Amino acid sequence: MTIDTPCCTVTPFYDIKDTPWGGRSCFATDDIQKNTVILEVNDTTGSSIQYEFRKEVCHYCFKYNNGKSMKFKIERTDIEGFLSEDNKWLKSHLKKFRGAGLWFCSSDCMHSYLTIPQIIDLIEIYEILLDNYMNKLKKHNPDDDREAELNSVEISQPIIDSVWENIRIEWLPLIDTMKYTKREQYLPIISEDEYNWARFVSNTLFHLRTYNKDTETGKSFWNLQSNELNKMKQFPILLHFQQLVFKTLYILLPKTLRVDFCIETFRHIMGSEYGNVFGIWQEGETVDSRESLGHWVFPRASYFNHSCMPNITKSRNRNTMYFTLNEDVHCGDELCIEYSGILDLTTAKRRQFLKENWFFDCQCRKCRLEIQSSH
Ligand SMILES: [Zn+2]
Ligand SMILES: [Zn+2]
Repeated sequence: MTIDTPCCTVTPFYDIKDTPWGGRSCFATDDIQKNTVILEVNDTTGSSIQYEFRKEVCHYCFKYNNGKSMKFKIERTDIEGFLSEDNKWLKSHLKKFRGAGLWFCSSDCMHSYLTIPQIIDLIEIYEILLDNYMNKLKKHNPDDDREAELNSVEISQPIIDSVWENIRIEWLPLIDTMKYTKREQYLPIISEDEYNWARFVSNTLFHLRTYNKDTETGKSFWNLQSNELNKMKQFPILLHFQQLVFKTLYILLPKTLRVDFCIETFRHIMGSEYGNVFGIWQEGETVDSRESLGHWVFPRASYFNHSCMPNITKSRNRNTMYFTLNEDVHCGDELCIEYSGILDLTTAKRRQFLKENWFFDCQCRKCRLEIQSSH
């Protein structure tokens, strides 16, 4: 037993303990019946809707109406009353307000969104990013010609660290000593992927103001394992993309969200996203036919290990996720989810998918049995 193990009070149904096989994991504290909801979370620390679905998904309840555009957008008059002294950029650009790239299924959802405390700060950075993205849209993106080159760079921990160290000692001081108006010329041209990542990081910075390190959610967030190295080894181009997203945000973030923004925070947000996100899936469809609308992070739900024969089923209702037992469990049983809709794949394919996307060799009971019987 370790002293000072945080996050042990997530729910009364299970304890979180270190395991020799898969980091931390969750174990039932009692015999619990099938269909019990053992965890319910809506305290996301960051969410993102895929760029291609940006107009088709409600940014409050995540409703998706089979490709139909959502009808409600925030207008200038909806936000005027929320602006504070700190929202200088938004105040001076209010006449050209584009809606911050947010769409809603109903005026109820839109107004619920607007009543989230200080949401205006998030709307402001979304609008800044959108404005920047639209202004540069017609410019040639030099990365378009360099994809193969960027994807063939060598990746190791020292290489990643030295890239960030260079930004710290050369790029940051250069920008810091520059007038705000001059900084814009150092803004990189970004693609829709980086634009979306910049929104995701902004969304996370916004939520981390609420879920600070004194909260269970905040503690769990900072405990998330970073998969930066594994992910970049697989997709070396991400090292380049991440720098573009970081530089864009460093130059554009308004005062309200840049307080805690630094290289370490950025790397943890991105690194922990790899392998810890949950998909925002279309509701009411089968696993095979549902759309992947986006993704979100629920640090308190990230202690569940994967099993190819999970005893927990995940589900979503609006902006809440539920973790429900799909069988009776006994006191001490490990409680597992499945990380993706892969349970119908063959043993080899399933295990390869887990290795490539979550960076581990699955040791669950189903895999052990199937491997044994194939020898
Ligand atoms: Zn909605
Ligand atoms: Zn398995």
